[in-house]
Order: sequence, then structure tokens, then C-alpha cells
Amino acid sequence: MASKDGDGAQTGTVLVVEDSRALRGLLASYLSDEYGLAVVGVGTLAETQAQLAWNPERFFCAVLDLNLPDAPNGGVVDVVQNHGIPAIVLTGFMDPGVREAMLAKRVLDYFIKRNLSDIEQVAHTIGRLWRNRQIKVMVVDDSRSFRACVQSLLDGHRYQILAAASGQEALDLLADHPDTSLVITDVNMPGMSGLELIETIRRQYRREDLAVIGMSDASKPGLSALLLKTGANDFIAKPFQVEELLCRVNQNTDMMDYVRRLREAATCDFLTGLLNRRQLLDVGEKLHANARRGHFLLGIGMVDADYFKRINDQYGHLVGDEALKVIASTLHTTLRTSDVVGRYGGEEFVCMAVLQSESDADRVFERACAAVAKIGFSNAGREIPLTVSIGFTTELGTSLHQMIECADSAVYQAKAGGRNRVVRWSAVDAGR
Ligand code: GH3
Ligand code: MG
Ligand code: MG
Repeated sequence: MASKDGDGAQTGTVLVVEDSRALRGLLASYLSDEYGLAVVGVGTLAETQAQLAWNPERFFCAVLDLNLPDAPNGGVVDVVQNHGIPAIVLTGFMDPGVREAMLAKRVLDYFIKRNLSDIEQVAHTIGRLWRNRQIKVMVVDDSRSFRACVQSLLDGHRYQILAAASGQEALDLLADHPDTSLVITDVNMPGMSGLELIETIRRQYRREDLAVIGMSDASKPGLSALLLKTGANDFIAKPFQVEELLCRVNQNTDMMDYVRRLREAATCDFLTGLLNRRQLLDVGEKLHANARRGHFLLGIGMVDADYFKRINDQYGHLVGDEALKVIASTLHTTLRTSDVVGRYGGEEFVCMAVLQSESDADRVFERACAAVAKIGFSNAGREIPLTVSIGFTTELGTSLHQMIECADSAVYQAKAGGRNRVVRWSAVDAGR
């Protein structure tokens, strides 16, 4: 079963308790710039108590300085944790005694503040906590107590936890949650072994889509190599320190994050987030081939922003960029989920619509054109009208390329006809 989204706040607000105003400010700017999180900063235990007296649920985690003017020995940690708020600890020094005391209090993590990169590290940890709410991690072990232990550890770090008592249960659970990011599995289990489970998982999921950490027995040295060869991304030898398990989990989920971002960068347009030209043409070729096989009707529309050079000239390139973004998101939300829209280049977009009928095409593109004209875009209090001209065709011709050319020539007619309008390509008008 999936655990609920903890008791954490739904809003991204972090409580920062630190008596150095400069440090608080630095952390707040990292958190808001890099991760879009808000910060409430205070400098004493008394101020902390005042904040907690009113709606403590708004904090999804807290960063706590162990040495405050009115609480020199970490007194703030219990106060905050008693409100169910996960705590990350900052300290000027760390010795084994402090570390043990903090681990005993079950703080999420601790950092020694020495320089800028330590603060960056704290911000990164908080950003990850916020992100973890979306990440599903499955723990597979026949020992109930072990599952509970890992579950409570990862729960604190805001991961969504799924727990399975056997390999078969894990596969069933995975079928219900195909968006799981990481599976942590024991090797020795009755029935299906961990190695068999990994083998089965790898027939369906690649390493970069679903990471697996195998837990091997430290007394069997060959096992870790076998785990990796079978398809595990990583392994951890039992028994282990909680910090080690956490590091491995975080490293693997970070790795998947990087892969996702790389994929996005390769397929999405940087400015608008729509598909880029290459990806658009890739998807378009498939749609065209399927339409040619008679599976559905296809409409290709070329959308060209009107008088865009003028917008740049009058208001500057950055405002032009904002205008392109809002046009892109309007096209995206106006089209149906079965349709595809991408940035073809500059101020030109291509929409590919899967149609129910010939007349459906007119409706789809007229709606997109009207939606852009209704945007109501403004800059510094000045209203900037945005419109687009759309040319489209539903004639499949011999290639996607040919459809795009036809749509493009219909755009010229839309421009010549006065802009902010839709023109269907016709062979007669084009003189063919
Ligand atoms: P028309 O109504 O005839 O389409 O006029 P237009 O000005 O939109 O057409 P033109 O092709 O002359 O100019 C397109 C402009 O779009 C020029 C270019 O600077 C601008 N543009 C292209 N890509 C971007 C971009 O990424 N950001 C911004 N701000 N402007 C861009
Ligand atoms: Mg153009
Ligand atoms: Mg234009």
C-alpha cells in the first residue's frame, strides 16, 4: 500500500531558524531561486514558538541552528519536531557526540556551516525533500520489521513508499504503479528470490526508467557483482547504517532526475517547453504514417505570430519571449490531449490534430486562433494585442513534409487576407 503524503504541508514553505540574518537570507534566496520554495526566517527559539503557535502545518520542513541566543544546546529541535515538522540541523561544529545525539532525535540530516557550498548543500537537500513527494520507492523484503524500518526512514524523507513482502507481490504492485522510480529488494526471500525479481523487472524496465538497489549479504562477497550483472543499478550490504541507505537512495533518484532532465532537454524547446522541431517531426512522421493507413484523419496547422518583429522592436526581446511563451501555452491548452503542438522555429508553431471529421479541422484551428486573440497580454500596464495567422491542410499527400509546405502556403494567404485568421489550403488556390 502507498503511504499518504505524510502530514507535510502542501505549500512549499520552509521554516529557517538561524540567528545570522545573512545566512538566513542566503538560504532563502537559494531556496526560492533554485527550487521555488518560500521561507519564513526567524533568529530565536521564542520567535520559532510564535511561528509554530499559528498554523504549523504550513511548514513542510525546518532548518535549525543548534546554537541560538535563547537555546544554545539544540533545544529548538524538539520544539519543532513535536509539531511533526521534519528537521535539518545546522551546526558550527560536529563531533561524534553531537552526531549521535542528532541521529537519536531522528533529524533528517545535519550540516556543518563552514562556507557557501555547505549552504548550497542544505538547499539541495531541502529541494530534494520537496521533490521526493512525487517519487515512488518500493521496498521488497519478507521481514515485516525490516520493511517497517526502511519505510519509516524514507517516509521521513517524504518519499512515497510502497511495500511488498515477496517478489510476486512486488511485481503485482509494480503493475499497479508503473511510475515507480526505485525498487529496493532483499535477495533472500521465500518463493521468488531478489535476483529473479530483478531479472523479471529488467525484461520490462530499463535501468534509467526504474532503478533497483539489491540488498546483499556482506558475508557473500560474490553476490554484489551478481546483483549488478543481473540488472541492479546499485547494491548495499546488510547490515548497513541508515545514512548509507539514504545516500544510495538519494543518489539513484538524483540520477533518474538527471536522465529525465536530459531527455527533456533533447526533446523540448527551451523557451516554451513545447516539443522542439526535431521531436515534433518525429512524432509527426508517426501520425502521418498512421493516418495514411486509414486509422484517423490528420490536420496539420502552421501557426505564425502576427507582426512579431514589431512587438520585439517596441517592447524588447524579453517581452517578445514572454509573448511566445503565452502563445505556446494557449495553443497547448486549447488543443485536445490527442493533438500535438511544437515550436517549428522562431515565432512559428505547428499543430497536429487527430480529427473526427473534415469539418472538425476548421473548428480546431478556428478555436486555437480565437484563443490566442483573447489572451489579454500586457507589459508594464500596457496592453499588447497578440494574434496568429493559421494555415492548415487535411490532405495527406505523400509526406508530412508536403503537408507542412501546404499549411505554410496557406499561412501566406492568411497574412495577405489581413492576419488573425485561419485559411484551409486548397489545391485550386495554390494553382496546382
Ligand atoms: P508577420 O505578421 O508577417 O508574420 O510579421 P512578423 O513580424 O511576425 O514576421 P517576421 O518573419 O518578419 O519576423 C518574425 C520575428 O520573430 C522576428 C524575430 O526577431 C522574432 N522572433 C523569432 N524568434 C524569436 C524568439 O525566440 N524570441 C523573440 N523575442 N522573438 C523572436
Ligand atoms: Mg514567421
Ligand atoms: Mg510572424
